[in-house]
Amino acid sequence: MHRTESFVREAERWSAHNYAPLPVVIERGEGCWVWDVDGNRYLDMLSAYSALNQGHRHPAIVRALRDQADRLTLTSRAFHNDRMGSFLQALAEAAGFTRALPMNTGAEAVETAIKAARKWGYEVKGVSENRAEIIVCENNFHGRTTTIVGFSSEEQYRDGFGPFAPGFKFIPHGDADALEAAITDDTVAFLVEPIQGEGGIVVPPNGFLARAHEICHANRVLLLNDEIQTGLGRTGRLFCGDWDGTRGDILIVGKALGGGVYPVSAILANDEVMDVFHPGDHGSTFGGNPLGAAVGLASLRVILDEDLANRSEELGSWFMNQLRQIDSPHVKEVRGRGLMIGLEIEAASGMARPFCEALKERGVLCNDTHHHTVRIAPPLVIERETLEGSLPVFEEVLRPGVVA
Ligand SMILES: *Cc1c(COP(=O)(O)O)cnc(C)c1O
Repeated sequence: MHRTESFVREAERWSAHNYAPLPVVIERGEGCWVWDVDGNRYLDMLSAYSALNQGHRHPAIVRALRDQADRLTLTSRAFHNDRMGSFLQALAEAAGFTRALPMNTGAEAVETAIKAARKWGYEVKGVSENRAEIIVCENNFHGRTTTIVGFSSEEQYRDGFGPFAPGFKFIPHGDADALEAAITDDTVAFLVEPIQGEGGIVVPPNGFLARAHEICHANRVLLLNDEIQTGLGRTGRLFCGDWDGTRGDILIVGKALGGGVYPVSAILANDEVMDVFHPGDHGSTFGGNPLGAAVGLASLRVILDEDLANRSEELGSWFMNQLRQIDSPHVKEVRGRGLMIGLEIEAASGMARPFCEALKERGVLCNDTHHHTVRIAPPLVIERETLEGSLPVFEEVLRPGVVA
Protein backbone atom coordinates (compact mmCIF):
# COMPACT_ATOMS: atom_id res chain seq x y z
CA MET A 1 0.00 0.00 0.00
CA HIS A 2 2.81 2.39 0.72
CA ARG A 3 4.84 2.00 -2.42
CA THR A 4 2.64 4.64 -4.04
CA GLU A 5 3.57 7.22 -1.42
CA SER A 6 7.28 6.67 -1.75
CA PHE A 7 7.22 6.91 -5.57
CA VAL A 8 5.17 10.09 -5.33
CA ARG A 9 7.59 11.53 -2.78
CA GLU A 10 10.59 10.69 -4.96
CA ALA A 11 9.03 12.28 -8.05
CA GLU A 12 8.01 15.39 -6.12
CA ARG A 13 11.50 15.72 -4.68
CA TRP A 14 13.37 15.47 -7.99
CA SER A 15 10.99 16.87 -10.61
CA ALA A 16 9.96 20.38 -11.43
CA HIS A 17 6.47 20.97 -10.08
CA ASN A 18 4.84 21.86 -13.38
CA TYR A 19 2.13 19.19 -13.00
CA ALA A 20 -0.24 18.11 -10.24
CA PRO A 21 -0.87 14.44 -11.07
CA LEU A 22 -3.49 12.35 -9.30
CA PRO A 23 -1.69 10.31 -6.61
CA VAL A 24 -1.52 7.05 -8.55
CA VAL A 25 1.76 5.49 -9.69
CA ILE A 26 1.30 3.31 -12.74
CA GLU A 27 3.75 0.53 -13.53
CA ARG A 28 2.02 -1.51 -16.24
CA GLY A 29 -0.60 -1.08 -18.94
CA GLU A 30 -2.46 -3.23 -21.42
CA GLY A 31 -5.31 -2.17 -23.69
CA CYS A 32 -7.52 0.12 -21.64
CA TRP A 33 -6.23 -1.13 -18.28
CA VAL A 34 -3.33 0.03 -16.11
CA TRP A 35 -1.94 -1.32 -12.83
CA ASP A 36 -0.31 0.71 -10.06
CA VAL A 37 2.74 -0.15 -7.95
CA ASP A 38 0.46 -1.49 -5.20
CA GLY A 39 -1.25 -3.96 -7.52
CA ASN A 40 -4.51 -2.05 -8.07
CA ARG A 41 -6.10 -2.13 -11.50
CA TYR A 42 -7.64 0.97 -13.10
CA LEU A 43 -9.63 1.67 -16.22
CA ASP A 44 -7.75 4.35 -18.16
CA MET A 45 -10.39 6.82 -19.29
CA LEU A 46 -7.94 9.57 -20.22
CA SER A 47 -5.73 7.76 -22.74
CA ALA A 48 -2.88 10.24 -22.20
CA TYR A 49 -5.03 13.04 -23.63
CA SER A 50 -5.92 10.83 -26.64
CA ALA A 51 -2.34 9.75 -27.36
CA LEU A 52 -3.43 6.18 -26.53
CA ASN A 53 -6.39 5.79 -28.89
CA GLN A 54 -5.04 2.32 -29.80
CA GLY A 55 -4.76 1.36 -26.11
CA HIS A 56 -1.66 0.62 -24.06
CA ARG A 57 1.02 -1.45 -25.80
CA HIS A 58 -0.99 -2.43 -28.84
CA PRO A 59 0.80 -5.59 -30.06
CA ALA A 60 1.18 -4.39 -33.67
CA ILE A 61 2.64 -1.06 -32.56
CA VAL A 62 5.01 -2.59 -30.00
CA ARG A 63 6.13 -5.09 -32.63
CA ALA A 64 6.87 -2.27 -35.09
CA LEU A 65 8.86 -0.48 -32.38
CA ARG A 66 10.86 -3.61 -31.50
CA ASP A 67 11.54 -4.67 -35.08
CA GLN A 68 12.70 -1.21 -36.02
CA ALA A 69 14.77 -0.82 -32.85
CA ASP A 70 16.64 -3.95 -33.93
CA ARG A 71 17.52 -2.45 -37.32
CA LEU A 72 17.93 1.34 -37.23
CA THR A 73 16.61 4.10 -34.99
CA LEU A 74 17.98 7.45 -36.10
CA THR A 75 19.74 8.93 -39.09
CA SER A 76 18.87 12.63 -38.80
CA ARG A 77 17.60 14.23 -41.97
CA ALA A 78 21.18 14.72 -43.14
CA PHE A 79 20.66 11.28 -44.70
CA HIS A 80 17.62 9.43 -46.01
CA ASN A 81 16.21 6.42 -44.20
CA ASP A 82 14.16 3.57 -45.65
CA ARG A 83 11.10 4.12 -43.44
CA MET A 84 10.08 7.76 -43.68
CA GLY A 85 8.74 7.85 -47.24
CA SER A 86 6.27 5.00 -46.92
CA PHE A 87 5.01 6.35 -43.59
CA LEU A 88 4.39 9.81 -45.03
CA GLN A 89 2.70 8.31 -48.09
CA ALA A 90 0.29 6.31 -45.93
CA LEU A 91 -0.42 9.32 -43.75
CA ALA A 92 -0.92 11.72 -46.67
CA GLU A 93 -3.17 9.27 -48.51
CA ALA A 94 -5.27 8.56 -45.43
CA ALA A 95 -5.61 12.27 -44.73
CA GLY A 96 -6.15 13.30 -48.36
CA PHE A 97 -3.19 15.64 -48.83
CA THR A 98 -0.26 15.48 -51.23
CA ARG A 99 2.54 15.99 -48.69
CA ALA A 100 3.46 15.53 -45.05
CA LEU A 101 6.17 17.06 -42.88
CA PRO A 102 7.10 14.98 -39.84
CA MET A 103 7.89 16.37 -36.38
CA ASN A 104 7.81 14.84 -32.91
CA THR A 105 5.55 16.64 -30.46
CA GLY A 106 2.27 18.40 -31.09
CA ALA A 107 3.59 21.83 -30.22
CA GLU A 108 6.35 21.42 -32.83
CA ALA A 109 3.78 20.52 -35.45
CA VAL A 110 1.73 23.61 -34.56
CA GLU A 111 4.88 25.74 -34.83
CA THR A 112 5.54 24.13 -38.21
CA ALA A 113 2.01 25.00 -39.37
CA ILE A 114 2.49 28.61 -38.24
CA LYS A 115 5.78 28.86 -40.13
CA ALA A 116 4.26 27.30 -43.26
CA ALA A 117 1.28 29.66 -43.15
CA ARG A 118 3.39 32.78 -42.68
CA LYS A 119 5.80 31.85 -45.46
CA TRP A 120 2.87 31.02 -47.75
CA GLY A 121 1.42 34.42 -46.85
CA TYR A 122 4.57 36.24 -47.92
CA GLU A 123 5.55 34.14 -50.93
CA VAL A 124 2.20 33.14 -52.38
CA LYS A 125 -0.44 35.54 -51.08
CA GLY A 126 1.87 38.55 -51.23
CA VAL A 127 1.55 39.93 -47.68
CA SER A 128 4.17 42.61 -46.91
CA GLU A 129 7.18 41.59 -44.88
CA ASN A 130 6.50 40.90 -41.18
CA ARG A 131 2.82 41.83 -41.44
CA ALA A 132 1.34 38.32 -41.49
CA GLU A 133 -1.52 37.87 -39.08
CA ILE A 134 -3.01 34.63 -37.74
CA ILE A 135 -6.47 34.43 -36.20
CA VAL A 136 -6.87 32.09 -33.22
CA CYS A 137 -9.75 31.26 -30.87
CA GLU A 138 -10.31 32.32 -27.30
CA ASN A 139 -9.88 29.43 -24.87
CA ASN A 140 -7.54 27.63 -27.31
CA PHE A 141 -4.88 25.08 -26.51
CA HIS A 142 -2.16 24.43 -29.07
CA GLY A 143 0.85 23.57 -26.90
CA ARG A 144 3.41 25.17 -24.64
CA THR A 145 6.11 26.87 -26.67
CA THR A 146 6.62 30.59 -26.05
CA THR A 147 4.98 31.56 -29.34
CA ILE A 148 2.00 29.30 -28.68
CA VAL A 149 1.40 30.37 -25.06
CA GLY A 150 1.73 33.94 -26.30
CA PHE A 151 -1.62 33.52 -28.06
CA SER A 152 -3.31 31.62 -25.23
CA SER A 153 -6.19 33.32 -23.45
CA GLU A 154 -5.41 31.31 -20.29
CA GLU A 155 -3.63 33.72 -17.94
CA GLN A 156 -1.66 30.95 -16.19
CA TYR A 157 -0.17 29.64 -19.44
CA ARG A 158 1.25 33.11 -20.19
CA ASP A 159 2.02 34.50 -16.78
CA GLY A 160 5.74 35.10 -16.37
CA PHE A 161 6.72 33.88 -19.84
CA GLY A 162 6.61 37.06 -21.94
CA PRO A 163 7.51 38.93 -24.07
CA PHE A 164 5.49 37.15 -26.71
CA ALA A 165 5.50 37.00 -30.50
CA PRO A 166 3.08 39.45 -32.15
CA GLY A 167 0.84 38.61 -35.12
CA PHE A 168 -2.08 36.81 -33.47
CA LYS A 169 -5.65 37.96 -33.03
CA PHE A 170 -8.59 36.36 -31.16
CA ILE A 171 -12.15 35.48 -32.05
CA PRO A 172 -14.64 33.47 -29.97
CA HIS A 173 -14.51 29.73 -30.80
CA GLY A 174 -17.41 28.68 -33.00
CA ASP A 175 -18.21 32.19 -34.26
CA ALA A 176 -17.87 32.23 -38.04
CA ASP A 177 -19.16 35.81 -38.35
CA ALA A 178 -16.42 36.99 -36.00
CA LEU A 179 -13.89 35.17 -38.16
CA GLU A 180 -15.15 36.90 -41.29
CA ALA A 181 -15.04 40.29 -39.56
CA ALA A 182 -11.51 39.74 -38.19
CA ILE A 183 -9.90 38.94 -41.56
CA THR A 184 -7.77 41.69 -43.14
CA ASP A 185 -5.48 41.75 -46.18
CA ASP A 186 -2.66 40.66 -43.87
CA THR A 187 -4.47 37.58 -42.54
CA VAL A 188 -2.70 34.41 -43.61
CA ALA A 189 -4.37 31.78 -41.44
CA PHE A 190 -7.06 30.77 -39.01
CA LEU A 191 -5.80 28.25 -36.43
CA VAL A 192 -8.52 26.20 -34.75
CA GLU A 193 -9.30 23.03 -32.80
CA PRO A 194 -12.50 21.49 -34.26
CA ILE A 195 -13.44 20.62 -30.66
CA GLN A 196 -11.52 22.41 -27.90
CA GLY A 197 -9.94 19.74 -25.72
CA GLU A 198 -8.01 21.46 -22.93
CA GLY A 199 -10.56 24.26 -23.12
CA GLY A 200 -13.14 21.90 -21.59
CA ILE A 201 -14.41 19.70 -24.49
CA VAL A 202 -16.10 22.62 -26.21
CA VAL A 203 -18.09 21.57 -29.28
CA PRO A 204 -18.80 24.42 -31.74
CA PRO A 205 -22.15 24.77 -33.55
CA ASN A 206 -22.72 22.23 -36.35
CA GLY A 207 -21.23 23.41 -39.60
CA PHE A 208 -18.83 25.88 -38.01
CA LEU A 209 -15.68 24.39 -39.51
CA ALA A 210 -17.29 24.12 -42.96
CA ARG A 211 -18.37 27.76 -42.80
CA ALA A 212 -14.94 28.81 -41.46
CA HIS A 213 -13.26 27.03 -44.35
CA GLU A 214 -15.53 28.73 -46.89
CA ILE A 215 -14.73 32.11 -45.39
CA CYS A 216 -11.02 31.32 -45.37
CA HIS A 217 -11.14 30.14 -48.95
CA ALA A 218 -13.00 33.24 -50.14
CA ASN A 219 -10.39 35.48 -48.50
CA ARG A 220 -7.24 33.53 -49.35
CA VAL A 221 -6.65 32.55 -45.76
CA LEU A 222 -5.41 29.07 -44.78
CA LEU A 223 -7.43 27.00 -42.35
CA LEU A 224 -4.99 25.37 -39.92
CA ASN A 225 -6.90 22.47 -38.42
CA ASP A 226 -5.32 21.32 -35.14
CA GLU A 227 -6.48 17.71 -34.83
CA ILE A 228 -3.72 16.66 -32.45
CA GLN A 229 -6.32 15.63 -29.87
CA THR A 230 -9.48 15.22 -31.99
CA GLY A 231 -7.87 13.33 -34.86
CA LEU A 232 -7.27 9.66 -35.64
CA GLY A 233 -10.70 8.40 -34.69
CA ARG A 234 -11.24 10.09 -31.35
CA THR A 235 -14.47 11.90 -32.22
CA GLY A 236 -16.09 9.14 -34.26
CA ARG A 237 -14.59 10.16 -37.60
CA LEU A 238 -11.02 9.69 -38.82
CA PHE A 239 -10.69 13.46 -38.34
CA CYS A 240 -13.16 15.61 -36.45
CA GLY A 241 -13.39 18.02 -39.41
CA ASP A 242 -15.02 15.16 -41.35
CA TRP A 243 -18.24 15.90 -39.42
CA ASP A 244 -18.22 19.16 -41.40
CA GLY A 245 -16.72 17.77 -44.58
CA THR A 246 -13.39 19.57 -44.32
CA ARG A 247 -9.90 18.80 -43.08
CA GLY A 248 -8.56 22.31 -43.63
CA ASP A 249 -5.59 23.52 -45.69
CA ILE A 250 -3.04 22.38 -43.13
CA LEU A 251 -3.98 19.41 -40.98
CA ILE A 252 -1.99 19.10 -37.75
CA VAL A 253 -1.68 15.64 -36.19
CA GLY A 254 0.19 14.21 -33.22
CA LYS A 255 -0.65 12.31 -30.02
CA ALA A 256 -2.23 9.00 -31.26
CA LEU A 257 0.00 9.11 -34.35
CA GLY A 258 2.66 7.73 -32.03
CA GLY A 259 0.34 4.98 -30.75
CA GLY A 260 1.20 5.80 -27.15
CA VAL A 261 4.75 4.54 -27.48
CA TYR A 262 6.78 7.25 -29.16
CA PRO A 263 6.23 10.94 -30.00
CA VAL A 264 5.27 11.37 -33.65
CA SER A 265 3.57 14.44 -35.12
CA ALA A 266 3.19 15.95 -38.57
CA ILE A 267 1.55 18.58 -40.66
CA LEU A 268 -0.22 17.70 -43.89
CA ALA A 269 -0.80 20.08 -46.78
CA ASN A 270 -0.96 20.24 -50.55
CA ASP A 271 1.92 21.35 -52.78
CA GLU A 272 1.04 25.06 -52.89
CA VAL A 273 1.59 25.31 -49.16
CA MET A 274 4.27 22.69 -48.58
CA ASP A 275 6.42 23.98 -51.45
CA VAL A 276 7.23 27.11 -49.44
CA PHE A 277 9.77 25.03 -47.52
CA HIS A 278 13.25 24.77 -49.02
CA PRO A 279 16.28 22.94 -47.64
CA GLY A 280 17.40 24.66 -44.46
CA ASP A 281 14.12 26.55 -43.83
CA HIS A 282 12.90 24.25 -41.09
CA GLY A 283 13.79 20.98 -39.45
CA SER A 284 14.11 18.69 -36.46
CA THR A 285 16.87 16.23 -35.52
CA PHE A 286 14.39 13.51 -34.65
CA GLY A 287 11.53 14.43 -37.01
CA GLY A 288 10.97 11.64 -39.57
CA ASN A 289 13.36 9.25 -37.84
CA PRO A 290 12.98 5.57 -38.77
CA LEU A 291 11.78 4.46 -35.34
CA GLY A 292 9.09 7.16 -35.30
CA ALA A 293 8.15 6.40 -38.91
CA ALA A 294 7.75 2.67 -38.19
CA VAL A 295 5.67 3.42 -35.10
CA GLY A 296 3.63 6.08 -36.90
CA LEU A 297 2.81 3.75 -39.78
CA ALA A 298 1.78 0.94 -37.42
CA SER A 299 -0.28 3.34 -35.30
CA LEU A 300 -2.13 4.70 -38.33
CA ARG A 301 -2.78 1.17 -39.63
CA VAL A 302 -4.33 0.11 -36.33
CA ILE A 303 -6.71 3.09 -36.43
CA LEU A 304 -7.76 2.23 -39.99
CA ASP A 305 -7.69 -1.58 -39.86
CA GLU A 306 -9.61 -1.81 -36.59
CA ASP A 307 -12.08 0.83 -37.76
CA LEU A 308 -11.58 2.70 -34.50
CA ALA A 309 -13.37 5.83 -35.73
CA ASN A 310 -16.66 3.95 -36.17
CA ARG A 311 -16.16 2.17 -32.91
CA SER A 312 -15.66 5.54 -31.23
CA GLU A 313 -18.85 6.93 -32.75
CA GLU A 314 -20.98 3.94 -31.72
CA LEU A 315 -19.62 3.53 -28.23
CA GLY A 316 -19.37 7.27 -27.65
CA SER A 317 -22.96 8.13 -28.49
CA TRP A 318 -24.21 5.17 -26.47
CA PHE A 319 -22.03 6.05 -23.46
CA MET A 320 -22.89 9.76 -23.57
CA ASN A 321 -26.55 8.77 -23.45
CA GLN A 322 -25.93 6.54 -20.44
CA LEU A 323 -24.08 9.35 -18.65
CA ARG A 324 -26.92 11.76 -19.40
CA GLN A 325 -29.32 9.40 -17.68
CA ILE A 326 -27.45 9.69 -14.38
CA ASP A 327 -29.71 11.81 -12.25
CA SER A 328 -27.34 14.01 -10.25
CA PRO A 329 -27.51 17.62 -9.09
CA HIS A 330 -23.76 17.86 -9.76
CA VAL A 331 -23.99 17.38 -13.52
CA LYS A 332 -24.39 20.52 -15.58
CA GLU A 333 -23.88 18.98 -19.00
CA VAL A 334 -22.54 15.93 -20.79
CA ARG A 335 -21.17 16.84 -24.21
CA GLY A 336 -18.74 15.67 -26.84
CA ARG A 337 -18.42 13.60 -29.97
CA GLY A 338 -17.51 9.95 -30.18
CA LEU A 339 -15.39 8.99 -27.20
CA MET A 340 -14.26 12.57 -26.57
CA ILE A 341 -16.62 13.38 -23.74
CA GLY A 342 -16.79 16.19 -21.21
CA LEU A 343 -18.92 15.92 -18.09
CA GLU A 344 -19.27 19.42 -16.72
CA ILE A 345 -19.79 19.76 -12.99
CA GLU A 346 -22.17 22.46 -11.74
CA ALA A 347 -20.21 25.47 -10.46
CA ALA A 348 -22.04 25.18 -7.12
CA SER A 349 -20.67 21.64 -6.73
CA GLY A 350 -17.07 22.85 -6.91
CA MET A 351 -14.19 21.82 -9.12
CA ALA A 352 -13.96 18.67 -11.23
CA ARG A 353 -10.74 17.56 -9.54
CA PRO A 354 -12.31 16.01 -6.38
CA PHE A 355 -14.64 14.03 -8.63
CA CYS A 356 -11.60 12.72 -10.54
CA GLU A 357 -9.95 11.81 -7.23
CA ALA A 358 -13.07 9.92 -6.16
CA LEU A 359 -13.21 8.12 -9.53
CA LYS A 360 -9.57 7.14 -9.09
CA GLU A 361 -10.31 5.71 -5.62
CA ARG A 362 -12.87 3.48 -7.33
CA GLY A 363 -10.63 2.34 -10.18
CA VAL A 364 -11.45 4.83 -12.96
CA LEU A 365 -8.84 7.29 -14.22
CA CYS A 366 -10.07 10.55 -15.74
CA ASN A 367 -8.71 14.04 -15.46
CA ASP A 368 -10.20 17.46 -15.05
CA THR A 369 -10.00 19.99 -17.81
CA HIS A 370 -10.75 23.66 -17.57
CA HIS A 371 -11.65 23.60 -13.86
CA HIS A 372 -15.18 22.18 -13.97
CA THR A 373 -15.12 19.46 -16.60
CA VAL A 374 -14.29 15.78 -16.16
CA ARG A 375 -12.70 14.55 -19.37
CA ILE A 376 -13.76 11.03 -20.38
CA ALA A 377 -11.69 9.69 -23.26
CA PRO A 378 -10.93 5.97 -22.97
CA PRO A 379 -8.82 4.12 -25.55
CA LEU A 380 -10.93 3.50 -28.65
CA VAL A 381 -10.25 -0.24 -28.42
CA ILE A 382 -12.36 -0.43 -25.26
CA GLU A 383 -15.13 -3.06 -25.15
CA ARG A 384 -18.73 -2.00 -24.59
CA GLU A 385 -18.97 -4.21 -21.46
CA THR A 386 -15.92 -2.52 -19.98
CA LEU A 387 -17.38 0.89 -20.65
CA GLU A 388 -20.67 -0.26 -19.16
CA GLY A 389 -18.81 -1.49 -16.08
CA SER A 390 -17.64 2.05 -15.34
CA LEU A 391 -21.18 3.47 -15.17
CA PRO A 392 -21.92 2.44 -11.57
CA VAL A 393 -18.68 4.18 -10.58
CA PHE A 394 -19.78 7.44 -12.23
CA GLU A 395 -23.23 7.04 -10.63
CA GLU A 396 -21.75 6.59 -7.19
CA VAL A 397 -19.30 9.47 -7.41
CA LEU A 398 -22.02 11.81 -8.70
CA ARG A 399 -24.48 10.84 -5.96
CA PRO A 400 -25.10 13.74 -3.54
CA GLY A 401 -22.92 13.52 -0.46
CA VAL A 402 -20.22 11.29 -1.89
CA VAL A 403 -17.89 14.03 -3.18
CA ALA A 404 -20.03 17.11 -2.72
C1 LIG B 1 -1.87 18.15 -26.80
C2 LIG B 1 -2.19 19.19 -27.80
C3 LIG B 1 -1.17 19.96 -28.40
C4 LIG B 1 0.27 19.87 -27.97
O1 LIG B 1 0.83 18.61 -28.14
P1 LIG B 1 2.18 18.23 -27.34
O2 LIG B 1 2.55 16.90 -27.90
O3 LIG B 1 1.83 18.16 -25.89
O4 LIG B 1 3.17 19.30 -27.64
C5 LIG B 1 -1.54 20.86 -29.38
N1 LIG B 1 -2.82 21.00 -29.77
C6 LIG B 1 -3.82 20.28 -29.20
C7 LIG B 1 -5.21 20.48 -29.68
C8 LIG B 1 -3.54 19.38 -28.20
O5 LIG B 1 -4.53 18.69 -27.62
